[in-house]
Parts: sequence; C-alpha cells; structure tokens
Amino acid sequence: MSTEDKGPTLETAPVIIDESFVDTELIEPERMEFGSSANITRVEARHALIEYVGQFCCYGKSAAKELMILKVVPSNAMHYTLETFCEGRFTTRGEIPHRGGAVDGAVNGRSPDPWSIRVNASEEFVDEAKALRIPHTSEIKICSDCRGTRTQPCYTCSGSGHERCDSCGGSGQNVTEDSDGNRMTRNCSNCGGKGECRCGYCNGSGTRQCSDCEGYGKVEVFDQLNIRYKNHIADYVLEGANLPSVLVRSVEGVEIFSQTDRKVWPITQFPVAEINQHSVELVNRARKEHSMERQLQQKQSLCAVPVTRIDYEFRGFTSSFWVYGLQRKVYAPDYPQQKCCGCNIL
Ligand SMILES: [Zn+2]
Ligand SMILES: [Zn+2]
Ligand SMILES: [Zn+2]
Repeated sequence: MSTEDKGPTLETAPVIIDESFVDTELIEPERMEFGSSANITRVEARHALIEYVGQFCCYGKSAAKELMILKVVPSNAMHYTLETFCEGRFTTRGEIPHRGGAVDGAVNGRSPDPWSIRVNASEEFVDEAKALRIPHTSEIKICSDCRGTRTQPCYTCSGSGHERCDSCGGSGQNVTEDSDGNRMTRNCSNCGGKGECRCGYCNGSGTRQCSDCEGYGKVEVFDQLNIRYKNHIADYVLEGANLPSVLVRSVEGVEIFSQTDRKVWPITQFPVAEINQHSVELVNRARKEHSMERQLQQKQSLCAVPVTRIDYEFRGFTSSFWVYGLQRKVYAPDYPQQKCCGCNIL
C-alpha cells in the first residue's frame, strides 16, 4: 500500500490552546470517543460514474463503461462544524393604537432590566426575532401622525376627493367616428364633461382613517424589547485528495463526534493535528466575535466524508475522478467524452 492510500495522516499532534481560552466552568473531558467511516469498492465507483454521466444528454456513455481503473485511493475528508447559538437584546420605542382602557405604566412599579425578562427561543440553533412590551413602561399619547384628528388626507386623491376621469383622460370629452368616418366630439358620459370623478377610495370625502392610530386618535407608547436569536456557524474542511472543499461541504458524511453544551470544549484529542488546532481556533474566535451577545448553546460535530479518488486510463488518456459523500456524488472534470452541445451541466 502506498502512502497516498491512507488519506489524512494519522499522528498524535501537539495541542496548542490559546491562553485566553481558560474557563473555570469547563473541564477538559478525559477521553473523546471518535467513530469511523466507510469507503467504496472499484465496482461501486464505476457504477457511480455511469450514473453521473447518465445525467448529461450529450456526454458519451461508453468511456464510463470501458475505461480502465488503474487505482482506487480511499480517504476521508474531515468536516468540522461549530455552531454557536446566541441571543442579542436591544430596546426601541414601540407604538400601538390605543383602543381604550388602562395601560401598564410607571404607577405599577419600576420597569425590569431588559436582560432580566425571561424569554425562550422557540427552537435552539435556529435564527429567530422576537419583540415584546416591557412591563410598566406604557403611556397614552395623542397620535402624532393625525394630531388626534383620527383621519389623514386620502392618498389616492391627495385630499381633494376627486380623481381624473379614466374614460376621457381628464379632458371631459370623447371623440368618436360614425360609419361614414366623420369625427364627432361628445361630452364624456362617465364624468358628465367635468374631466374628473369622485374618488372611489375615500368616497369623495378627501380623508381616510389614520393608519397609525386606526382612527382612535390616541396611541400607547412603550419600551419594546427586541430579541435576536442567531446561530453562528463556522466550519473547517481537511481534505487530502485534491477535491475542492466546497464539494465536501455539500455532502453528508459519517458523524464521528458531536457534542452539545452551553459551551463546548474544543476537540483536542483527535489523532489529526489540524482538526484539533482548527477546533481550538474556531471555539476561541466564537467567544471574541460574539462577545456582545449572550451565548445560549454550542454544538460541535466532526464528520468523516468518504472521498475516493479513482485513477483511470481511456484510449491512452489518463486522469482521475472522485466519488465523495454518503450520497456518492461524482466529480469528473476531465471526463473524456464531454461532447457538450449546450445543455446545462448541473
Ligand atoms: Zn392617528
Ligand atoms: Zn380620495
Ligand atoms: Zn370623463
């Protein structure tokens, strides 16, 4: 077996932990257990290529069946993902129409600190926005939009109560031709010659109900607590078979390690040094980048994505294709029979 048959090198790595990552709440676990992944056979590789080629109407199919497989090189790309679920809070001034009755104002007591109000996310690791009224902050005010008049000028007619007549275009007259081709001018029957009609939106009143106060003339203003739940996702791909990282990210692998906690301890005991280093780096970076938010939960996972490189020869031409992910997707940029006639390659 040659050295390239092994995939990423497995060796015990020195672990570098950022000095700033000292957290008394966390204790490094004694042992982290990692699962293993699976790869594919020569027959399965060819089958995947035939299926892939079949998706393109203009690709020649015979090369996939006839090409000589020289070598099958199995490996595992590692996809590490860190999700940091955070909550941010800020207050704004809210306003709703006041339909009557008492409101919860300062007479009922001191308003609570925005961070002391108990609110939960509907679902963890999912972005969400919530807003609520902070207790004891409400007061009733005259609507500033209509100054308490309950109405505003009609948008459609700009308050005039009239609109230009559609039938005559505002001229008040219509031109018609009789059977002999003589042109005749007549008063518009739609507007009676005035060139304008009563505004259909406001029924000619020139006003509409104020939308801010819904016609009540008063509004309730209050401090509004706005909450933003945000799932920050960072990841790292370790790939040793020359397959673009973006392809590794797009497929599923075998989850060989996962952990969910309020704060995770980075992976430090995996036999591949790069994984430990990047896990530490991403966990450290998450702390700094989201320091303005409250961290609620954190989740890390490590997936082994099977990547098989197949070296082949077809009529004197040698190259490689790759089969990757549990879905067995194919990457064959040099496939020898790409007689493309303009169809879409997906
Ligand atoms: Zn109003
Ligand atoms: Zn109007
Ligand atoms: Zn008219």
